[in-house]
Amino acid sequence: MMLKERDAKMTKFHSTVSRREFMKRLGLISAGLGTAAAISPIRHDIDELISTPEGGRKLPWYIKEREFDNPSVEIDWTLQRGFDQRNYRQNASKMAEWGALTKKVSLEALRNNVPGNTLKDHAFVDAFHRSGLDGPWSVPERTFFVSQINRAADGIPAWQGSPEENFKMCASAVHYFGGREITALQISNNSRKIFCTNDATGKPYTFEDIDEPYSTDTKALAVPNKCQWVLVWSSPQSMITKVNHSVLAKASVFHAYSAAMDVRKRVQYFIRGLGYQAIGGDYAAKNVATNTGLGVLSGGAELGRVDYAVTPKFGALMRGSYYIVTDLPLSPTKPIDMGIWRFCQTCKLCAGACPGSALSVANEPTFDLTGNWNGPGRKCYHIDYSKCWRLIFDVGLSDAGPGGCNNCQTACVFSKMQEATIHELIKGTVAATPVFNTFFRNMDSAFGYGKGWVTPNGEIIENPEDVFWNRNLEDSPSGGTVIR
Ligand code: SF4
Ligand code: SF4
Repeated sequence: MMLKERDAKMTKFHSTVSRREFMKRLGLISAGLGTAAAISPIRHDIDELISTPEGGRKLPWYIKEREFDNPSVEIDWTLQRGFDQRNYRQNASKMAEWGALTKKVSLEALRNNVPGNTLKDHAFVDAFHRSGLDGPWSVPERTFFVSQINRAADGIPAWQGSPEENFKMCASAVHYFGGREITALQISNNSRKIFCTNDATGKPYTFEDIDEPYSTDTKALAVPNKCQWVLVWSSPQSMITKVNHSVLAKASVFHAYSAAMDVRKRVQYFIRGLGYQAIGGDYAAKNVATNTGLGVLSGGAELGRVDYAVTPKFGALMRGSYYIVTDLPLSPTKPIDMGIWRFCQTCKLCAGACPGSALSVANEPTFDLTGNWNGPGRKCYHIDYSKCWRLIFDVGLSDAGPGGCNNCQTACVFSKMQEATIHELIKGTVAATPVFNTFFRNMDSAFGYGKGWVTPNGEIIENPEDVFWNRNLEDSPSGGTVIR
């Protein structure tokens, strides 16, 4: 391919503004604000990839390709035949005996607190087994799949740790399961008010002096009073959201939902395995508390003009603050201020990008509600959901396109991949002073960040659907979710 031709093709894929150029435009290179790390060379993996005949498969130089049907192990195709699955586990009769032996060894190690074999380790491993299969509110405490230990029946006491140790342990587990920005809330008389009064059918939620949660035909859920703590985490959404108004963008939405439910279910099994209650729910109508309230009060996020959680790592590009209500004591984390709420007073980018005029453009926040879909008592920019829902759900009739609307999520100044050094610099400045807020907001617009997909290098890719389907599989995060 001629060089000019190739360059023309490259610009179709990349409308790039390098970090160096961005920094230059901000005047930061001349200001000498530690820019060395920001001027590393821009990679061109996508361009290199599409120019190779292998398409999605790019092998390093030291891996050679062989002929079809001729792997490096020698095969005599005249001798090969299909496998008779009856021959699988020929020693099935031995399985019970081996299981008993496994349990004996595991119990001994657990009772002796052998590192890597304590109750928390068993509960953690068991969380990966058959997740997502049980009911929405709670899961049973079950026999551990690998070791066959049943904590209660085998006389193992519930996990004991200080609230600080418990929170650290839970944060480690949730992080591994896929949750981020992990926080905890201790329920107070005030924060009890962010719990819902009833479900979508009108059945009440209650707090009662009981040991186990329960539901009846007339009661959505009774939560034990002893469940005084809430473990909370962010569920990040992929940058494929940027393919706005297309069905493809919904991959990010439903991937985030399903991943969040998997994480939640694993957290439930983990905490149940420790011998404690773990009350969840689903992501829609069955929510015992408002997830935005939990995220904001526990310090995982600040409330934004969008009237939902905007987090330090993911901005508005996340599916919610997911949570588990538990009686496992957790050291609570405090609400945060990194200047997001203050930034929102003058930014208004999301409101300008809202095709339904659902987001407020007012200068001052207010206690006045736009409808009974708003929670009272917050002086904020209340969203008008009657205008938003049409664009999210009524996609066949609306002007939002087949994928509905996610404009506010992608427009948000803070919804940028945090590896872009410039954004870390801006975040630090925003947290310290509001003086540059209008300038930063205008820079965001000038660089067209609301229109494109921002790479870790600060490049803007204006046609992310092409990039998505042609991405370098070696470099892309598994599942498409940007997780660090
Ligand atoms: S999803 Fe779309 S319509 Fe709803 S608030 Fe966000 S930008 Fe507005
Ligand atoms: S786009 Fe601007 S106003 Fe809207 S939530 Fe983000 S920072 Fe706040």
